[in-house]
Amino acid sequence: SQERLLMMQLTAYARDQRLLITRDVTQIEKLETTRRDFVANVSHELRTPLTVLAGFLETLRDMPQEALTQEQRDQYLSMMHEQAQRMQAIVADLLTLSTLESSPSAEPHPVRIGALVQTVRQQVEALSAGRHDMQWRIDDTLDVLGAENELSSAFANLLTNAVRYTPDGGTITTTWERLPDGGARYSVHDTGIGIAPRHIPRLTERFYRVDRGRSRAVGGTGLGLAITKHIAMRHDAELGIASEVGKGSTFSLIFPAERVAE
Ligand code: ADP
Repeated sequence: SQERLLMMQLTAYARDQRLLITRDVTQIEKLETTRRDFVANVSHELRTPLTVLAGFLETLRDMPQEALTQEQRDQYLSMMHEQAQRMQAIVADLLTLSTLESSPSAEPHPVRIGALVQTVRQQVEALSAGRHDMQWRIDDTLDVLGAENELSSAFANLLTNAVRYTPDGGTITTTWERLPDGGARYSVHDTGIGIAPRHIPRLTERFYRVDRGRSRAVGGTGLGLAITKHIAMRHDAELGIASEVGKGSTFSLIFPAERVAE
């Protein structure tokens, strides 16, 4: 029966190993599918502006000089420029994502959130160009231990989205406040178009958009929230999303007490 016990143990061991290996393979296959999807998505995202760009170039090349007025020529050039800028934005965001994924976090130091929001505010108010009522409630005694450039991108991303997805005349309220548990919350509330519940869990996937056409029209790359989520993780922060279609959305970054300094 000693032998029988050993046999049983060995069988159990072999089964566990098989289970482990099966699980590993499934994991690898899943990663591989994700990678393949990603490459397919990147290609698709870059191909669209490139096709438009090449089309305009050919037209300009093949049209006889006198067939186009200066005004038409300028119009073509500015449309080409727009497509090139879109590709630049996609490539810049891809590089940011890849840096976030491959490089370890830098040694955290205190980041003055008050000053950081001030800088972001200028960029975002320029983007809104007076079309929205922007409200700021910032506790500038609260700092975060982290990486300034990353925090700045994350804060700017959420605000840029609020501006993009809020029709003219809407209100955007940015709050930076202490929480009762000693942590702190940065939140951007807008009275924009809102997001249906089924989309919310997928928003941080790369290139996921609720409305592709709309995102393109407002200059989005579909990577902003994927980047923001990464930055949140690198700061032990949580990205919270609450939204109602037609009413608006609130995106927040919640930092634990260990990351907050006075
Ligand atoms: P994009 O560059 O397309 O804005 P993001 O990753 O930043 O990409 O956001 C993904 C999608 O989430 C957007 O395309 C949009 O559909 C939705 N979204 C993000 N922020 C908001 C918001 N404040 N209001 C409504 N929809 C939003």
